[in-house]
Amino acid sequence: MSEFAEIPTGGRPTAAWPRATTAVAGVIGFPVRHSLSPLLHNTAYAAMGLDWSYTAFEVPPASLAQAVAGAAALGLRGLSVTMPHKDGAARLATRRSVQVRRLGAANTLTFDQGAIVAESYDGEGLLDDLRDGGFDPAGRRCGVIGAGGAARAAVLALAEAGAHEIVVVNRTVTAAWRAAALAPTVVRVGRPDDLRRADLVIQATPAAMAGGGAPRDTAIVGQSDQTGRTGPVPSTAPAGEGGEPEVSAVVSGVDPSWFGAGQLVVDLVYDPPLSPFLAEARRQGATVRNGLGMLVYQAARQIRLWTGAQPPLSAMWAAVADLPPAASEGATGPWTWKSTGQR
Ligand code: NAP
Repeated sequence: MSEFAEIPTGGRPTAAWPRATTAVAGVIGFPVRHSLSPLLHNTAYAAMGLDWSYTAFEVPPASLAQAVAGAAALGLRGLSVTMPHKDGAARLATRRSVQVRRLGAANTLTFDQGAIVAESYDGEGLLDDLRDGGFDPAGRRCGVIGAGGAARAAVLALAEAGAHEIVVVNRTVTAAWRAAALAPTVVRVGRPDDLRRADLVIQATPAAMAGGGAPRDTAIVGQSDQTGRTGPVPSTAPAGEGGEPEVSAVVSGVDPSWFGAGQLVVDLVYDPPLSPFLAEARRQGATVRNGLGMLVYQAARQIRLWTGAQPPLSAMWAAVADLPPAASEGATGPWTWKSTGQR
């Protein structure tokens, strides 16, 4: 008996697949093991009957240029790009969309006859999900907590969608100014308090992620006002019963208990599906939404771009529907904006 006879197949769908002709795409990030993108993309390609395969590549920051050049040389169709490679991907591209040029960041690379084409679908994915639930940002007061890549994509998308006003509140005020510069006529740097009257609040920091946001050992800005006045804002509460720090519901000085009926609160984090920030806002009567819809829609846009065909949204939603616990009800999946309620 051959020494190879007992080697398991490793759960490959069939021995004959992928084939030499299978189109390959993937996601690059560091880390990337947590990514839901392979599940979303492979579900879509199977439902579409396409001979496409999508996988995750963990690429350390120092290897980004080699990885992108290698992907192009190997004939990959495209790459989704996640943290921390979005800025680097934009720099490495040979063609950039208007959004990528304005944001200086890309979440999609397409390899097209020697060109590396960069797009940014984070903002449009967010708008798709908002509109799906019936919320149109046009004419609305919006607040964005955070000023990193995701926050800036949200700010630009909301401004382009006709928001009346966008207030950016961030721990570090200089980063907030950079975000506000994306659309100075409608965006301003504000104080946490300013978000009390917003119709829509986007929480765009990792502070609510399982395990809490990355702790900082440098001085942090609590009141992100025009003067740059600083004050500490804890990202995590003191240790809970299990000895682990509990993730605070307050992010960058914004207390979600301020919100209520008639307001929509979105946390771009989807793990946990109902962050302490969203849970508190929901307790107060606000409509809440996590970031899974944004992820699903930006993946759908990538699939449409790369294959030229309509993505199977219901199959994609079904693939991720089982992941969140029941506690996230309303924050994930089909939803309706509840615009009624006194403020
Ligand atoms: P990023 O570029 O690293 O920016 C992080 C931002 O969060 C910065 O403004 C930072 O403030 C702030 N921040 C970090 N830790 C904080 C804390 N403990 N307290 C208060 N503020 C804190 O990250 P990103 O790419 O924008 O991503 C932000 C979040 O959005 C992540 O959780 C990411 O997973 C999520 N995201 C979701 C989707 C989706 O499809 N749903 C897409 C993209 C991103 P400073 O400026 O002071 O450092």
